[in-house]
Amino acid sequence: MSDDLQFKYEVEIKTADKKQKLTNEVKDELKASGMMDEKGKLKINGVSAKMLKRMKQEFVDCPVLKREVQFVPCFVCPNFQSRVTGKVLCKGDKL
Ligand code: SF4
Repeated sequence: MSDDLQFKYEVEIKTADKKQKLTNEVKDELKASGMMDEKGKLKINGVSAKMLKRMKQEFVDCPVLKREVQFVPCFVCPNFQSRVTGKVLCKGDKL
């Protein structure tokens, strides 16, 4: 396995009943990194509209922050390594 695939945690992705609201802080971050337009619409390269819709309902029990984190902010977290079969591979560094 190559070095760039090192991770500390495999975090299960859970699905909430409803679409969750992103905080303004997260929105600003997404906008700054070009993943959200001015209208608040998510635009992530290579991620389909269907997938984005699903992502908005997902969350993880973050082992680093020790609280629930919505999947979208988890996805843009510096610890995010990749997503495989319902799990986030998380580097687990202190945030
Ligand atoms: S990638 Fe970030 S938000 Fe996601 S589980 Fe790891 S530390 Fe938590």
